[in-house]
Amino acid sequence: MYDVKTHLHEVLDSLPQGVRLVAISKYHPNAYIQAAYEEGQRIFGESHEQELRQKHATLPQDIQWHFIGHLQTNKVKYIAPYVTMIEAVDSLKLLREIDKQAQKCGRVIDVLLELHIAEEETKYGLTPAACRQLLEEGEWRSLQHVRICGLMMMASYVDDTAQIRGEFRIAKQLFDEVKARHFADADYFCECSWGMSHDYPIAVEEGSTMVRIGTSIFGPRVY
Ligand SMILES: *Cc1c(COP(=O)(O)O)cnc(C)c1O
Repeated sequence: MYDVKTHLHEVLDSLPQGVRLVAISKYHPNAYIQAAYEEGQRIFGESHEQELRQKHATLPQDIQWHFIGHLQTNKVKYIAPYVTMIEAVDSLKLLREIDKQAQKCGRVIDVLLELHIAEEETKYGLTPAACRQLLEEGEWRSLQHVRICGLMMMASYVDDTAQIRGEFRIAKQLFDEVKARHFADADYFCECSWGMSHDYPIAVEEGSTMVRIGTSIFGPRVY
């Protein structure tokens, strides 16, 4: 088995205080998650509803599951009863559906708005303009069962660290802007979820509060 314990501690030791680790366990077996759990890791991220369902049913119940993938509205109902955070909300439609399903469960679900800043065409997410517009229009204020806790983004998958850094900076500036404009009094609006295995040291320098790391902890994924 891959040495999850050693790699987890290497990652944890490299994170400054105040930056939380979401261990991205997609495509990895329960034994790997259990190994990290036994070292004290509690926050795990998954990107497929069915895989998450199986893992949630069979692993310790105090794991905090973050859904990090693109979420179809028809899948929200399956994760609403137990998910801790939905990280990649990129439309009002999805936000409304999360609110509806959370209400049915008698819960409030924490979410992040996913930004699209990277150059890659295929990535999901709100452009900065669309993010501003969604918040400006204000319907989200009436959704009592979702709580917007911050922003999430993925930088371009490139070697150019200046480009990556620049994208994180755009995200942080937007975070500061919307925080001041819409969430100045909301302590819970505090999360900047950026940084993956290949770029998290830069992300942390650029204000990340939550890194999403898979490969550096669990090794390469077997699809
Ligand atoms: C898979 C994934 C990660 C983790 O990627 P690694 O390169 O394995 O660290 C982070 N964020 C999202 C949204 C992902 O889908």
